[in-house]
Amino acid sequence: MPSAQASSRLSLSQLASGALQSEIRAMSVECDRIGGINLAQGICDTPVPSVVEATAMQAIRDGNNIYTRCDGIDRLRKAIADKQLRDYGMSYDPESEVMVASGATGGLHAAAMALLNPRDEVILFEPFYGYHAVTMQSLRIRPVLVALNEPDWSLDADALRAAVTPRTRAILLNTPGNPSGKIFTRAELEVVAALCIQHDLFLITDEIYEYFVYDGAEHVSPATLPGMRERTIVLSGFSKTFSITGWRLGYAVADARWMPTMAHFHDLTYVCPPAPLQHGAAAGLEQLLPSFYKQLATDHQKKRETLLSALRAAGMEASTPPGAYYILAKASRLKGNSAREKARHLLSVAGVAAVAGSAFFRPGRGEDLLRFCFAKQDAELDEACERLRRL
Ligand code: PMP
Repeated sequence: MPSAQASSRLSLSQLASGALQSEIRAMSVECDRIGGINLAQGICDTPVPSVVEATAMQAIRDGNNIYTRCDGIDRLRKAIADKQLRDYGMSYDPESEVMVASGATGGLHAAAMALLNPRDEVILFEPFYGYHAVTMQSLRIRPVLVALNEPDWSLDADALRAAVTPRTRAILLNTPGNPSGKIFTRAELEVVAALCIQHDLFLITDEIYEYFVYDGAEHVSPATLPGMRERTIVLSGFSKTFSITGWRLGYAVADARWMPTMAHFHDLTYVCPPAPLQHGAAAGLEQLLPSFYKQLATDHQKKRETLLSALRAAGMEASTPPGAYYILAKASRLKGNSAREKARHLLSVAGVAAVAGSAFFRPGRGEDLLRFCFAKQDAELDEACERLRRL
């Protein structure tokens, strides 16, 4: 006979009530159902560089199909260390300060497990990337939101200073940013760095869009600021740069004080990043020339112009994002009482999926915004733009 006690134990965890399906995935499912064009998810379906693809396929044939070191193969850790030196002049030991991760997402989870405690506070800038907030919540860490100033999402230094409490352990920032496209300027990062040093905080930086910078803007890697290397956990990856979001391959670089423990927690969840695919990413880092990264930015800047002009023609005003590959557009003219309703309305009348802006803000904000992704093959993007113009 099932006892009352047994049935009450057969229940979801305390955390589960917050485990809602992400709005981005929900829109993708809905978009597939009606056969629409998906500008909701940052799927990035542009071609994979052939050296990356060919090396990964050869690695499978060569038998690189078993577990690797939990923090990745030597070749890739070295290639990542070389890249950090080449791009930012930062020296990291590939043995002890570089971890290949199952996506930047896996890297963030490992960093949070290794460095933060339940009830710690982590400062995030709003609009934020949903996974950042939800990953913290899933570990019982409290995200504290600091709103950036519209329309250019500049830093409000006073608001940031006011958000620090005795419980604050870290600041988590994303530059160039999803969904805003914001690139933190050097002056803004100096404010962030000064605060981290003053209060002895970690800085966790998500730099996955490091190469998606437009109009000659510069991506400043925050770890390069004086005094920041030892306290900065740099996260990035290959999903966006090599258009391999489904390979689940990213990395973390950080001081050797933190890395072995991060690798331990990454091991618990993933054991290792996908073995043959690591060879593909390593070959990409080793062989692709600076012109590849330049072209990536040039191509995406063009896609940005295409989408921006279609959105404006459709009466959805948007400021020009300096980086990343999303546009946050005003959706006032669309039917619906909330951003979710507006996104669903747009999908039903135009067959174009976008994400409700509310997914990136605290409750009550972002209801007038939709986020569109422009990392799409030109033909599909052009078709989506045609549909938007016809609105
Ligand atoms: N960080 C940001 C800011 C992102 O926008 C995304 C993709 N949407 C990720 C991380 C995911 O990166 P990865 O595929 O390496 O886990």
